[in-house]
Amino acid sequence: MRSSAKRAAAMIRSHACSTDPDQRTSMADARIAYCLARGVDMDDIDPASGYDRSRRAYESVRASWVWNIKQHGFSGFYGDGDRITTAYANWVAHRPDFTTGDDWLADAEKAHRAYWEQDGRSCTNAHCDWHPDADHAELLRAIAEVEAEDAAGSAEPGPGVQDALFD
Ligand SMILES: [Zn+2]
Repeated sequence: MRSSAKRAAAMIRSHACSTDPDQRTSMADARIAYCLARGVDMDDIDPASGYDRSRRAYESVRASWVWNIKQHGFSGFYGDGDRITTAYANWVAHRPDFTTGDDWLADAEKAHRAYWEQDGRSCTNAHCDWHPDADHAELLRAIAEVEAEDAAGSAEPGPGVQDALFD
């Protein structure tokens, strides 16, 4: 039973990106059936996509993000901000009752710092925004400078971040 459930989940994932409308409808139906087989309440299943929108699913996704950032750090420049924002926005769209006032990134930063800063250490990710090496710290400073200039409404065309770094 367990292996056939795993096989079903793998098959659903392997067809999840199909762009054929009929296949997409079939995949939503398959997801709904899979959710029901796992004991998810019908009220917690999105009827259009078949995704599990239960509290348990939310907590699982959230915990996964917090664990990953705790372990590996966070780099807005390398797209981590976009990825967590997209994941969070997905839940805001479907379950604002869960997301209101719930800051994943703040908790992830707290977990990351508590884990890595014991005994005065810092994490080993040179591109972590909270523990950057010298080069990444310089990049973050340059980005902040450009953003401050943009915010001030400077009309003067200046060098891009990359140009400013490699002059
Ligand atoms: Zn770090």
